Parts: sequence; structure tokens; C-alpha cells
Amino acid sequence: MRISVPSIPLQSTRPPAAHVSAQEAVERVANFLRPGNVGILTGAGVSVDSGIRAYRGSDGRYMNPNYKPLFYHQLVEDSPAGVAFRQRYWLRSYLGYPAIRTTLPNTTHFGLAALQHAGIAPRIITQNVDGLHHRSLGLSPRQRTDKILELHGSLHLVHCKHGHVVDRDLFQNWLSAANPQWKAFLDETERTGNKPRTNPDGDVAIEHLGTAYDSFIVPQCPSCMLEDRINSVHKPDVIFFGESIPNAIKTRSFEIVEETSRLLIIGTTLATYSAFRLLKHAVELHKPVLVLNVGPSRADTVEEIERIDIASGLIIRDVVRAVLGSSASLDPTIAHMLESGVVKPPVDDTLVQQAADPR
Ligand SMILES: [Zn+2]
Repeated sequence: MRISVPSIPLQSTRPPAAHVSAQEAVERVANFLRPGNVGILTGAGVSVDSGIRAYRGSDGRYMNPNYKPLFYHQLVEDSPAGVAFRQRYWLRSYLGYPAIRTTLPNTTHFGLAALQHAGIAPRIITQNVDGLHHRSLGLSPRQRTDKILELHGSLHLVHCKHGHVVDRDLFQNWLSAANPQWKAFLDETERTGNKPRTNPDGDVAIEHLGTAYDSFIVPQCPSCMLEDRINSVHKPDVIFFGESIPNAIKTRSFEIVEETSRLLIIGTTLATYSAFRLLKHAVELHKPVLVLNVGPSRADTVEEIERIDIASGLIIRDVVRAVLGSSASLDPTIAHMLESGVVKPPVDDTLVQQAADPR
């Protein structure tokens, strides 16, 4: 099976977006938002200020040169190779999940939540699986809401191959119980602060642990056991490379573009086609599109759209105040949202952290 990992086309038909001052960016984005009924599409860039590493740096290249995504068919394969892949996936996810679970929304999440609350931007489509848009609205990441469409699913739920769904926190406890030696390892990394690097999908870089993966036990699904089945094939509720987005989600993403009058795209290279085709759909419908992103993106190949090269976190609060005027301070919910949000971008290290093999 051949599956291509998305990359940004090298041949851009337009020069890179010009760098502009924060003041000019605020004015342009505010002008774009002011007519209202704006659809918003976000990517990994909006979560960087929360400490979640983007897949790609400002030059458009993968931040982790060793990054190898797992493919859907490998994760669900009913074979010894499939078992090994699941051990590798779930060990890395086990070590990476605590960082995802404790991550907090940043100023961009709260700024967008304020725009939602004010009715300027009724819907957000996100490629992120971290649940931070939910948290900025005061919702649990597991809560369903029509305000946020998670295009690529969520890390906060796990399902077995027979459709039993379990909360990721509970699944983490199952993994701890089945793997006390790895629980001790995780506790040690928490204690020393020597934590592995976590990718936006909750995966961690632990290549140096090598063959240690085969010591990891992926537990049986208890609901399957109750149905007299032995099954340890579990998958997070996220879309893997080579896996199709469910039709209902795909259809809804197009509907949101159709229902809204314009599209603001933030913090994404649009390397994934499921996101890029939404931009194309908006352009086909002659809707204004503005892309706010740092570095090159696939949007550089599209003539009809406006682009600004700046990090959203630098301008979002001023943008919201410019759009909402006095209600930004008079509405207590909006005022609170504009005071909320962490800013703790990940440490820019490229070193693989040294950690002892617990076996
Ligand atoms: Zn099951």
C-alpha cells in the first residue's frame, strides 16, 4: 500500500507573504473579521504557545527530522507486525499523554473563543486533536459541541476495534496497571523533569529506547471480554495517515465553509489535503479567505487569497478588542477570556533526551 505523507508543494506560484508590523496585522485581521459570520480553520500553529510543538518550523520543514507517522493499516493490522506496531504506538502515546492532558489553552484559543461568544465567528474547524479549543470554551475535550469541528478527531477518546469507546484518562490508567515498570519510568521523568519531547499527536521521540517497545503490554478491552472476545486492538479517536475522515465530518466541514461568509485560516501549513480542500472550496464559492501563518504554506500556491506572516498570539487580543469595541471590556465573559491564556512555547531543543531504559 502506498500512502503519501503530506508535504508542502515546493513550487509556490506566489512570493512568501510579506512580514508586516503587529499594528498593521491587527488592522487587517480586524477588518477581515468585522463583517461577521466568519468560519475559522486552525492548525498546529495555534497550540504552540500552549507548549505543544508544531510539526513544522518557520521554514516549513519538519521540526523533528526523525518524525515518522504511523499508518492506519499498521495500527489495526491483525498480525505479529500489528502487535509490534501497537506496542510502539501505545508506549510512545503513554509517555506523551501526560503532557497533552495538562496542557492549557493559550491567548489564541481564548481570543477565538471570545469571537465565538460574541457571534463574530460561530464555528471553528480544527485540525488539532488536543482539545484546547474545547477547554477555552469551558468544555471538557470529550464534550460534543457544534461550535467546534475536530477534523482529525481527538486524543481524548480511545476505541477498540469492536467500537467500545473509553475515556483516554481511564485508558491511561489501564496502561499504567498493565505496565508497572513503565509507570515507574514515567513517574521518574515527571520527578526529574527530564521528559521526552511530545509531538502534537501525543507521540514522543524515544528512538533511543530502541527495542524496549516489546516489553510494553497493550491491555485487553474489558467490554470485549464481557462479550467473550479477546481483543487488544485499540486506537485513539484520531485520524491516522492512510485513514479516511468519516463522511459526516467531511460533509460538515464543507457545510461550515458554505454557511459562513468568509474563512480565516490560522496556524497551519495546509499540508493536509482535508484542510487545503476547504480553502479551495471557499475560493470556488468566491468567499474572502485570509491566512495567518508563520512561514511558507500551501496557501502560497493560491492567487485569490490574502496572507499575513505573523504569529496569532502576538495580535489576537488586540484584534478582538478592535473588532468588539466596548463590549470587549463590558461583557464579563469576553473580558475574562481576553485576560486568559498561557504563553509557554516549547523549548527549542533538538536534542534527544537521555533516559534510562527501564528494562
Ligand atoms: Zn472492545
